[in-house]
Formats: sequence, C-alpha cells, structure tokens
Amino acid sequence: MRTLDTTTHALFLDFDGTLVEIAETPDSIEVPADLVPALTRLSSALNGALAINTGRPICEIDRFLFPLRLPASGIHGAEIRAIAGGTIESNVPPLDPALLSAVFRLEKHSPAIIVEPKRFSVAVHYRSAPDLAGVLEKEMQAIVDDEPDHLALAHGRKVLEIVPKDVSKGAALAHLMRLPAFLGRRPIMVGDDISDQPAFEEAERLGGIALRVAGELHPATLADFAGPSRVRTWLLQSLETCEG
Ligand SMILES: [Mg+2]
Repeated sequence: MRTLDTTTHALFLDFDGTLVEIAETPDSIEVPADLVPALTRLSSALNGALAINTGRPICEIDRFLFPLRLPASGIHGAEIRAIAGGTIESNVPPLDPALLSAVFRLEKHSPAIIVEPKRFSVAVHYRSAPDLAGVLEKEMQAIVDDEPDHLALAHGRKVLEIVPKDVSKGAALAHLMRLPAFLGRRPIMVGDDISDQPAFEEAERLGGIALRVAGELHPATLADFAGPSRVRTWLLQSLETCEG
C-alpha cells in the first residue's frame, strides 16, 4: 500500500463507498465512531491539506462529520469550501424546478426509487430496484435532452444523476490544489466511483496518486482498498507513522 507522507502529500477523500459503506439509502449510512477523530488528527498532521471531494452537498458531509468542517468540494464540484469552517461557494445556476418535477415523476415506477434533489444536481437512487436501471436511464436522458446544453447525465453505483456539465471532481481538485494549504503538495485522491475518475486523472496530472476502492466499479483484484474499512485502517496507520 502507498504510504501517506503528511509532509508532502495533500489528501482528497471521496465519502460514500470510500470512507463509509454505501447503504440502502443515502440517509442510512453509518459513520464509524473513529472516523471524525481520525480525520481531525489527519487534517492537523497534513497542515490543513485534507479535503472531502464528494457528490453530496457539503452541508450533509458537515452533518455526518460534525463538528469537523473540512475544505471540501460538494455535488461533484458544483460547490467548493476553500478553507476549513469557511463559507460554501458556487458559480453554478440552481436546477430548473420544471426539470426537478419531471425527475420526481420517475418515482411512479417504484416506491423503492429515491429522488434526491441537491440544488445544482438531482440524483435518482435505485439500489433497492436495480431492474429499473434501463428505464430510468432512458427517461432521465430524455429529460436532459430537453434542456439547454449545460446539463449531463452521470452514472454512479446504483445511481443516475443529472449534473452540470462544466463541473467535475477533477476541476474541484485542481481548484483546491491552488489554495495555500494545498499548493506545492502532491495530491492523493481516494475514491470508488465513476465520478472520481476525473479527480484521479487530475491528481496524476499534478504528479500525485489515484487510489481506488473496490465496489461495483472496481473489482477487488484491481483496487487499492478492499472497502471503506481498509481506507480507514490506512488513514489510522498513516497517523501512527507520522505521529510515531
Ligand atoms: Mg463514492
């Protein structure tokens, strides 16, 4: 396993499927008791060069990681918080309410479908109704095709999401890397899903490292971590090494 060097690396962590196990619904994830203390110590060991890079709104991450409010990118890069505890900013227009209504109408297919509006994007989770993947994809693509050109359909682990075209976790990583706490360090991006791919590429382009977590996308044999618990163990071991 790659060693985290707290003096030279900057660490970017996806949340769901990376730090915590994916659950049946986005709200039912469990945050292990040792996660917040570990991230607090890590942020300090990295001199602030630790950020969450997630598809969730940053305010949700704050709720899960309370009282920690790390630098972060949320909604796949549509939101940025540049400094710990700072304000959350965005340059992206909110979604059209008519589009949102059209997406909510997809719930007619099954009570197991969860529509999650996130202001700048809207996700449709079908983990409890996997057979509906095809029909949901077709209907969501039709909704996107009806819109002006600034939206795209993104795929994830049992989730489809209408997202702004011009944002990505990669652009967010690049943006955060220009901030004083991160500048001059080598980024490590840890993630498990398709939307992490642009951040992997950006981390490598900047001389850093991409670390993949096993799941529906990355088979265990090709991943760096077998699951979120292994990521957390790696974080704790890195702390022991640097606090030694
Ligand atoms: Mg993830």
